[in-house]
Amino acid sequence: MKIFHLSAECYPVAKVGGLADVVGALPKYQNQMGVEAAVVMPYYERKFVQENEWEVQFQASSLLGTRRFYFEVLKEKTNKLGFELFLIKIPGLLDRENVYSYPDETEQFIAFQLAFLDWINWSQQSPDLIHCHDHHTGLVPFLLYNSSLYKRLSAIPTVLTIHNGQYHGAFGWSKLGLLPEIDITKTGLLEWNGAINPLASAVKCCWKYTAVSPSYLEELTVKSNGLEYLFYLERAKGTGIINGIDTEIWNPKTDSMIAESFSIQKVSVGKQKNKEALCARFGISTDRPLISFIGRLVGEKGADLLPEAIKRSIIAHPGGVNFFLLGAGEPVLQDELTALQKEFPDQCSVFIGYDEALAHLVYAGTDFLLMPSRVEPCGLNQLYALRYGTIPMVRITGGLKDTVLDFGDDGGYGIRFIQASVADIVEAVRRAVELYPDTAKVQSIRKRMMALDFSWDRSAKEYINLYESLKPAI
Ligand code: ADP
Repeated sequence: MKIFHLSAECYPVAKVGGLADVVGALPKYQNQMGVEAAVVMPYYERKFVQENEWEVQFQASSLLGTRRFYFEVLKEKTNKLGFELFLIKIPGLLDRENVYSYPDETEQFIAFQLAFLDWINWSQQSPDLIHCHDHHTGLVPFLLYNSSLYKRLSAIPTVLTIHNGQYHGAFGWSKLGLLPEIDITKTGLLEWNGAINPLASAVKCCWKYTAVSPSYLEELTVKSNGLEYLFYLERAKGTGIINGIDTEIWNPKTDSMIAESFSIQKVSVGKQKNKEALCARFGISTDRPLISFIGRLVGEKGADLLPEAIKRSIIAHPGGVNFFLLGAGEPVLQDELTALQKEFPDQCSVFIGYDEALAHLVYAGTDFLLMPSRVEPCGLNQLYALRYGTIPMVRITGGLKDTVLDFGDDGGYGIRFIQASVADIVEAVRRAVELYPDTAKVQSIRKRMMALDFSWDRSAKEYINLYESLKPAI
């Protein structure tokens, strides 16, 4: 079975968030299980691209409305990521450094999808199934089944995975002309709330869709930025599959990005050494419980609650708890957190920016990881925290609800709270501060967490089962 994963991100080529981690790992595990899974993504002017060798697989030109664009499909020569990786390069559209936030993002991703379809159409490269990820690739199912240009491909099944249902990539009808010849009686399949909505279109046209956790699949019907009713209508096509983690990259025993590697048996010493390294680098004392946050500084992650919640917690536990925050995002929040650090330099340290290696050290060297998310489709941070013996403190939503049990419950290991609110975070911090001195309990919780299995083996198999359920067509 040959599968093409279509995505805007893939670790380590280009990463903004969890989408990259998933698309960089899932195909590797699928290949190990005998499915030929490849990744097709836009070309980015980035380190991984510059440092590796590529061969041109295909060259052609296509039309974006009336604008003719030239494109190349490049293949990484050695399959070093454990799967075939293809980049689509379009001069002036897909040859940039950043993944998102260009004013012509709509044109960029439409051109990406058209180039992909033209390539597989003309090169006779047809896969057995196309797996689309998020809205950036959401027009592919519609185009496959409703454009005479791609008639040859119209029997190929499509699966859509929703990593984040808050973003839809919607654009106005004035841009309909950017799409190629389509059956105009079917334009309703593109529409939601008066606009062309690629995510909605993908949900309508794909054969099956998945959400990245069972709880998130249900939440989409009540909270998906306007698509709730659509998810309610299409619910029968949906499945929730929790993400795995790449246990080769995220392995405290072999991780070269942390100060001291450690196994489950050596967790206490290992975490202490990493805590010392992190604290020495940022001038924090090691004798207090250290609570971290890693992530995009946006409302979705509850990052706006952090300044007030941290301030209140520090006042409630003077000299009794430290915080370390790593993130980038909304400028107002970045400023507020920087000001917080100035106000409480002894107890709060902040690193504004994106730093992959530092994130590894934070998972390894902090005692607790706070995730007060309003929306968390799956969440990978808590899974990395579990693997590195760091107790997750999570607001129970989406994947956080499915993966973290409270240490107060049978077999539990985390700290759960109900509301994304300052009061609930302060209470969770109180529980963490109280738990911390009980070293025997902390030790047994760490061992329990590290023994959990969130590897891709299980989830990759679930995706394969889903593909196989479409087999009569494959
Ligand atoms: P999302 O995709 O919504 O941002 P996920 O939990 O699915 O959230 O994935 C977040 C990923 O991004 C994790 O691998 C996390 O470690 C990483 N990450 C987020 N912010 C940063 C940062 N500032 N520096 C380093 N890694 C980060």
